[in-house]
Amino acid sequence: MKIFDVAVIGSGPAGASAALKLAENGISTVLIEKETLPRYKTCGGGFVFRGRKNMPFDVSSVVEREFYKIDVYFDKAGIHLQPERDEPIVSMIMRDDFDNLIVQKAKEAGITLLEGHKLKDITFGETITLHTSQGDIQSKFVIAADGALSPTAKLTGWEDTRYLIPALEYEVEVSPEDFERLSKEVRFDFDAVPLGYGWSFPKKNHLSIGVASARRTKIDLKKYYREYLITLGITEVVNEEFHGFQIPVSPREDGFFRKNVLLVGDAAGFADPVTAEGISNAILTGVMAAESIIDAKLDSQKTEEIYNAKLNEVLIPELKTGVYLSKLFYENARVRHFLMKKYGVRFGEAMTDVFMGLRSYPADIKKSILDKLKGFVFK
Ligand SMILES: Cc1cc2nc3c(=O)[nH]c(=O)nc-3n(C[C@H](O)[C@H](O)[C@H](O)COP(=O)(O)OP(=O)(O)OC[C@H]3O[C@@H](n4cnc5c(N)ncnc54)[C@H](O)[C@@H]3O)c2cc1C
Repeated sequence: MKIFDVAVIGSGPAGASAALKLAENGISTVLIEKETLPRYKTCGGGFVFRGRKNMPFDVSSVVEREFYKIDVYFDKAGIHLQPERDEPIVSMIMRDDFDNLIVQKAKEAGITLLEGHKLKDITFGETITLHTSQGDIQSKFVIAADGALSPTAKLTGWEDTRYLIPALEYEVEVSPEDFERLSKEVRFDFDAVPLGYGWSFPKKNHLSIGVASARRTKIDLKKYYREYLITLGITEVVNEEFHGFQIPVSPREDGFFRKNVLLVGDAAGFADPVTAEGISNAILTGVMAAESIIDAKLDSQKTEEIYNAKLNEVLIPELKTGVYLSKLFYENARVRHFLMKKYGVRFGEAMTDVFMGLRSYPADIKKSILDKLKGFVFK
């Protein structure tokens, strides 16, 4: 049986990007996907510029709309922010087309693609044997890019230390009048859901409307979705497809490498803790994992060292600050309204800079925010 250098499990943005990078560097790679491509993925499909500007090829063929301005509403504080930039802050994609485009690029670069192969079990020995629904595959390394549920992480022995939040996504067709009005803005409504937010992302011919709770509480998200339709002024739903899933919004606490398995994207818990935007970090970490294997020339210990160093340089500190900010932002409406009234415009600009990849969450934010809030909240 052929032994691949690397087997990548999952062909989302993390896995497909990892596979592409590996193949471009002459590493024999197999991409294992349980679905038949292109496949639907539950996602708002808002691709922020931070991710888009680092893509190794032009993705405009799968971009349905681009927004240079975003609309952010805090209804209870009476605030409407409209940060604007010269480049598209958010590009609207459908994940079946977007993910498949990266997979096709990886195929052109020489990967072996195995669709309809569901990973069922793993045997660790001198090499790694992956038992799939259509037979066994052997490799020296595995990149676990199999999303929020990550069977690979479970089978490798990781406990789940990520924080997963519930989110609903509806693909909605509305009347031509409502679509004409709502297709002009990409909007985030932070008071649409207690401890969360709602979004309306216009695609070519429909709206991707969703609600997420940033905290795992007992909540009827469907009810908040119905109410959000009223907020959006939608008078008639012509057609509606419902999808629900989870988003891991905090990184794992027990490492990202073991037994020659590297965790990337949602499998690792790398979505932004404040916005739950996960596509750009999925791509970033897929590429980082691939580069680590390439730079280490397939040496196990060096791969671990390089991958950890890459993650710890920027991403993990940024995500840890994000986890703290998310708590402050969602769990205390009083703080949020205070902050938005006083610093709303600055907040909107800072979040947009994060989306643009011009800044990340500062490592010392904890202290600076606490200083500002002293005497107001933490009495
Ligand atoms: C409702 C909702 C809305 C969202 N909206 C946005 C948004 O607008 N913008 C944004 O940036 N992020 C958004 N996210 C987050 C984003 O979807 C994820 O962060 C992103 O998809 C992570 O990419 P990934 O490659 O790590 O995993 P995924 O995209 O989940 O890909 C995992 C792949 O692994 C495959 N797989 C799983 N199990 C197996 C198995 N046993 N064998 C083989 N293959 C397997 C799956 O079929 C899938 O193709 C949203 C998430 C949700 C739930």
